[in-house]
Amino acid sequence: MSLMATQSKSQFLTDVHAQLKRRYKPKPDRSAGRLSVLEAVVYGICHEDVTREQANQALSRFKDQYFDWNEVRVSPIAEVQEALADIPDAQGRAERIRRFLRQLFSKTYGFSLEPLTKKPLKEALKVLHVYEAFSSDYVTATVIQQALGGHAIPIDSATRRALERLGISDSDLPSLRSILERAVPKNRGVEFLELLEELAHDTCVEPCPDCPRCELRKICAYALERKSEANHPAQANQSAVKAAPTKAAAEAEKPAKKIAKEAAKERPSAAPAPTPTATPAAAPTPTAKKPPAKQPPPPPKSPPGKRGTDK
Ligand code: SF4
Repeated sequence: MSLMATQSKSQFLTDVHAQLKRRYKPKPDRSAGRLSVLEAVVYGICHEDVTREQANQALSRFKDQYFDWNEVRVSPIAEVQEALADIPDAQGRAERIRRFLRQLFSKTYGFSLEPLTKKPLKEALKVLHVYEAFSSDYVTATVIQQALGGHAIPIDSATRRALERLGISDSDLPSLRSILERAVPKNRGVEFLELLEELAHDTCVEPCPDCPRCELRKICAYALERKSEANHPAQANQSAVKAAPTKAAAEAEKPAKKIAKEAAKERPSAAPAPTPTATPAAAPTPTAKKPPAKQPPPPPKSPPGKRGTDK
């Protein structure tokens, strides 16, 4: 029976949250709604699959190194990329950020989306979804959580990997996010995500998680499965071992049947050939063929002297 079948996802995620909290100690400065809508878009683009600290530093560099967002909009990609420093795919992210700023400017002739924070969430999202940056579910969820005051838990591939190993998965990303948002209440959403990110970048890494160091190893589906395999290695191979002799016996039976068939052909009037057994050793062999009938000895030759007398 799966772990999820024995307890609700909500209870399970509450346990996950409590155990992660013991290990990682959430930072006091976490708070939803601390960013403007524009900043939340840039933050979302910077943050996907990198640590919170790296994303915060990148956002700070944009604010410190540029006069305003218009300067970022008109800067060459190489310069925008510098603000992203060591973040992976800095060029791709720089292009997305600049494209968003250009699209925003061409639509609003400005760099503020703050009036949207006064609108109902659905309405605000409808307006925002015309921007290409919002084709990313991660960016959308980040903006909802950080700027629009809604309940959203952005999931990137790192946190998704950790959740899947824990036993929470869905092939569709927005559906997976819905599962979390239903199970984790809004007032704990920001902290839960922060802790989940710590886990995904600390022990639950690619390609091999460091489970012995992880606080969740006693409740994690992946870790429990590996432990069970390690404790019962024979059990893991049991089915394969059971299947092997059956297959071998079938293979062994093939030559035995063939030999018996040949023997029967050579002995048409004889009694039916013996039924071959499952093992080749018991099967009749070619040496069991019926020996050929003995020929009568040839008549003795007449002595040469006697030939004239016969005439
Ligand atoms: S126990 Fe291992 S697989 Fe499970 S969450 Fe921790 S590090 Fe990841």
